[in-house]
Amino acid sequence: MSKLTQRKSMDYIKKQYRETRKMPGSWYLSNYKYKYNITHLQPFLKKLKEKKLVGLKCSGCNTVYYPPRFVCGKCLVKPNRWVDLRETGKVSTFAIAYLKDPETGEIQEKPMVLVHHDGADTASIAQLNPEVDFKDTYIGMPIKAHWAENPVGGLMDVEYYDLMKDDAKDLDLPED
Ligand SMILES: [Zn+2]
Repeated sequence: MSKLTQRKSMDYIKKQYRETRKMPGSWYLSNYKYKYNITHLQPFLKKLKEKKLVGLKCSGCNTVYYPPRFVCGKCLVKPNRWVDLRETGKVSTFAIAYLKDPETGEIQEKPMVLVHHDGADTASIAQLNPEVDFKDTYIGMPIKAHWAENPVGGLMDVEYYDLMKDDAKDLDLPED
């Protein structure tokens, strides 16, 4: 018998349990509340209020995390050195999220980008300036943080990202 037919003969068979009781019910995940400790983010949030960006550097592997992470996933230690980051960066990747309006049922397009800040080793999800035609987005596109008028020291202080002039020149290929 070949391996393939062997596996086929071992198809999963669902065990039939005797039903004892039936209850109507739903599982509303939104009813659950999670606690997220942001103590380690305090210096980061303080800097945001001053319109400055900082990343958290791991002393074990020198990875600069932006947004700051509580534990380095590679070394399993607490990154503990704050480093200044530029407010410029590049688009790592992009996608459009389709969100359904809970009231009207209308589908809304929400363009999202993954921003790789200059000086950081990780990327974060953000939005581009709403005036940007999303069709023009490309990987490596230079962008710059657009600050809220009155930063409050929160994650929304960078409202979105503005485009920057791309000074990379196209390859000058000789014509045949
Ligand atoms: Zn590390």
